[in-house]
Amino acid sequence: MIIVMGKDVTDEQIGAVVKRLETAGLRANISRGVDRTVIGAIGDETPLTEEMFTPLPGVETAMHITKQYKIVSRESHRDSTVIDICGIPLGGKQIQVISGPCSVETQQQMDLSARYVHEAGCRMMRGGAFKPRTSPYAFQGKGREGLEMFRNAAKPYKLPIVTELMDVRQIDMFMEYDVDVIQIGTRNMQNFDLLKEVGRINKPVILKRGMSATISEWLMSAEYIAAGGNHNIIFCERGIRTFETSYRNVLDVTAIPVLKKETHLPVIVDPSHAGGKAWMVPALSRAAIAAGADALLVEMHPNPCEAWCDADQALTPDELKNLMGSLGAIANAIGRSL
Ligand code: PEP
Ligand code: MN
Repeated sequence: MIIVMGKDVTDEQIGAVVKRLETAGLRANISRGVDRTVIGAIGDETPLTEEMFTPLPGVETAMHITKQYKIVSRESHRDSTVIDICGIPLGGKQIQVISGPCSVETQQQMDLSARYVHEAGCRMMRGGAFKPRTSPYAFQGKGREGLEMFRNAAKPYKLPIVTELMDVRQIDMFMEYDVDVIQIGTRNMQNFDLLKEVGRINKPVILKRGMSATISEWLMSAEYIAAGGNHNIIFCERGIRTFETSYRNVLDVTAIPVLKKETHLPVIVDPSHAGGKAWMVPALSRAAIAAGADALLVEMHPNPCEAWCDADQALTPDELKNLMGSLGAIANAIGRSL
């Protein structure tokens, strides 16, 4: 951290900053320029916050010079991490497509979905048993029964299951059903107690980007999980809120290369919640893969018109099959495979 002092700083004010640094176990390097005096902190600055210095008399600004997210940062781990999900690699040369309905509805709907996901060539399945809905009167998910249906449906095809965890009180149930990948939704990206709990579990976690979160807030949220010991974290860009109202969210394609540079962890894209319309999904999927996404999370329903949740954005089984058929060429063009 460096602390920049104001123009007419006194020795007493510099002394107070140095004392605060020393109390925190660090040393100070004082550099007196013509205009400004800059104090550099020497030592482990992890415990320091900017607010420890900015209120002190004579201090103009204080800023970190090392990254606040350490474990997830590429600085700490140069090679890209490949996460093993029941034998399926995520983050390597092969791109994965995780597909399935927005929400678990019935056993028949899940059985059909699993069959279509498998037939399309996807290796993992999604489906929400606990649904974060804007209205408290909307369908909230089938809960435990939904996890049961999901497990039964995925079993014959050995599809690892991805499902959203909304509350720490659901964790035991998720372990009971041996959920393969825990999804943290956009609305919970900064639910720090939830992040700390999944940090203690030995299960891969898909961390969706908060709909108005900056890249650095997102990285810090991942660091919460990593700090607890769970380093199997997958970032998922799912569209952000902007002034544009023509589509549900704006897919931030720029976030993909930026995150790939900042973190060694896999980065995936959810084109369904970004566009909010099924017809946009193929174009957004192609853009995501071309930009370097390691996987896609795509909503598909056996009969989208009858879907209980997010009906507009669900692909039909045929559309999923066509999408899968079209993505291989893009993957190959950038030296990857599908
Ligand atoms: C979902 O994946 O069904 C979902 C609710 O996503 P998000 O948290 O991105 O809105
Ligand atoms: Mn959905």
